[in-house]
Amino acid sequence: MIKTAEFIMSNSDVDKCPKDTLPEYAFIGRSNVGKSSLINMLTNHKNLAKTSGRPGKTQLINHFLINKSWFLVDLPGYGYARVSKSSKKKFQKFITDFFEKRQQLVSAFVLIDLRHEPQKIDLEFMEYMGESGIPFSIIFTKADKLKPKAIARNAEAYMKELLKTWEETPNYFITSSTSAVGRDEVLQFIDETNHE
Ligand code: GDP
Repeated sequence: MIKTAEFIMSNSDVDKCPKDTLPEYAFIGRSNVGKSSLINMLTNHKNLAKTSGRPGKTQLINHFLINKSWFLVDLPGYGYARVSKSSKKKFQKFITDFFEKRQQLVSAFVLIDLRHEPQKIDLEFMEYMGESGIPFSIIFTKADKLKPKAIARNAEAYMKELLKTWEETPNYFITSSTSAVGRDEVLQFIDETNHE
């Protein structure tokens, strides 16, 4: 249960993130995937995270303190960095810095719109996370836009795609911000893993 959710700070420099060592959960995905809507749904707030629709908006790391005991971190949509040779350097530096420096990160949630075929950038981002040993789950968004059969089919197709390069598939959640599907499951996962 989320009782309190407070905005703490926004910044673009991981070294300026809160010094607290409270456990953190980071939410990340491509722009428009439904991240702000999901954060608002999970926290039961209308406008905690600003819903976008404005590509190219300032890229910030947003910290929210939940129940005064853990941080929900809203990360900006990822895109390829301009200079992209090694897989590590493919993504914006402050995003890779965040994942590599924040020792208190318990887990990330990589958001994926369940309606689309697996996208190269999402697969590459998960590959980066796997190679870097950063724990993550997938959150499939906008499930209300699909019929139950299509939800199962698309999620399975996604796992099949991942198994081409992964030995096992990550934990995943099916969610909808309009119907609150998946809310309890995601919060329960956070509850169960959130030990200081
Ligand atoms: P962000 O850029 O990832 O933060 O995405 P937003 O939360 O701003 O959502 C992008 C668009 O998708 C908006 O028009 C939302 O209303 C819509 N959207 C987000 N989540 C859902 C959902 O669960 N169901 C439906 N039907 N639409 C959604």
